[in-house]
Amino acid sequence: MTRLVMKFGGTSVATLDRIKRAAKRVGREVANGHEVIVIVSAMAGKTNELVGWVNETSPFYDAREYDAVVSSGENVTAGLMALTLQEMDIPARSWQGWQVPLKTNGAHGAARIEEIPTRNMDVKFAEGMKVAVVAGFQGVSPEGRITTLGRGGSDTTAVAFAAAFDAVRCDIYTDVDGVYTTDPRISSKARKLDRIAFEEMLELASLGAKVLQTRSVELAMRYKVKLRVLSSFDEYDEDAGTLVCDEEEIMESKAVAGVAYSRDEAKMTLISVADKPGIAAAIFGPLAAAGVNVDMIVQNISEEGRTDMTFSCPVDQVKRAEKAMSEAKAAGKIDYSELVADTDVAKVSVVGIGMRSHAGVAARMFESLRDENINIKVITTSEIKISVLIDRKYMELAVQALHDCFELEKA
Ligand code: ADP
Ligand code: ASP
Ligand code: MG
Repeated sequence: MTRLVMKFGGTSVATLDRIKRAAKRVGREVANGHEVIVIVSAMAGKTNELVGWVNETSPFYDAREYDAVVSSGENVTAGLMALTLQEMDIPARSWQGWQVPLKTNGAHGAARIEEIPTRNMDVKFAEGMKVAVVAGFQGVSPEGRITTLGRGGSDTTAVAFAAAFDAVRCDIYTDVDGVYTTDPRISSKARKLDRIAFEEMLELASLGAKVLQTRSVELAMRYKVKLRVLSSFDEYDEDAGTLVCDEEEIMESKAVAGVAYSRDEAKMTLISVADKPGIAAAIFGPLAAAGVNVDMIVQNISEEGRTDMTFSCPVDQVKRAEKAMSEAKAAGKIDYSELVADTDVAKVSVVGIGMRSHAGVAARMFESLRDENINIKVITTSEIKISVLIDRKYMELAVQALHDCFELEKA
């Protein structure tokens, strides 16, 4: 028997009809001779609603209870999918994370998977179960509490199961028919890619392309999982979707493979901090402890021993960051005159392994933004990406301009 992992995202299980549609696809794979592990997300919008309830109840919530609440959406779809399959006479059973068990560390809200023992599920497959329907996004901590894997975490559940059960492939069914050169919702010129390299997908995901959770790509790369993204709405065909694969399996060698964006960023500047050894540690230590995900960092030139320190973080973490900084100031750990938050910024990035061998990508990018009169606030680069922070109102324009500039609509 071969094992196959099929993951259905929120829009693919948004209604009972869509669950039926997804179940039919699962049924076809069972008929093809696979034992199938189905990973389901919560119904579209459900997780957002649950997160909203938590924030309304407790703004600086206990992360253990956040997980108790937001993991629940997946339990519903797992049970409904198992019932739908049973109605089709397919032996199916639902599994919540703790029942597998999918073991994680104790980092509530962003837990890392540590181990997926296969024994419990193998026993059930041996007894005739054809489909295991697993609630995505959730696991169990060493203390025995429910954890979640971070937003979009069902992708990671899927890849982790594919690795643990040595699946022939991990199919991610979603509301687009593959990975595009940029988010098709932002640019009508976006082009679907037949293949994309793990490293490019990793960068695109971590820079905001939420079609796959970053950690899922990392795991697929490490465990050599055959990962495919495809639509749950289109008619099925063998070559559908986008294959995420090794660099060597790709013919295309453009400088830039895709453009990603992250809409909800904030730029925070600490004015007039003492420029002395240990100051960065004194600032970023408390931010990390408060759970603020700092991204870009710039330290400005100093004058008379004082400097400004700028960093970016997700806009919904601004309050956390402000609290951490004012507490550190009150405790005498840091000293600054003011913390200025610019909450109207977005990050736009170009990504491509071709950048290693093509020179001048940054210059072309900056010229293209200049031609649209878009001011750049912060720049960061790595070997295969360049990111800029800009005013949020220009985000769509910037994505489209960069897509045009690097001619991504052309194969
Ligand atoms: P699911 O609920 O199935 O997990 P997501 O909403 O998490 O789906 O991810 C799919 C969405 O990702 C698409 O609807 C699309 O708007 C967005 N997206 C962003 N960047 C890209 C890209 N480069 N290619 C494809 N989709 C992208
Ligand atoms: N339901 C979770 C979320 O919306 C996990 C997922 O769908 O991947 O983030
Ligand atoms: Mg998703």
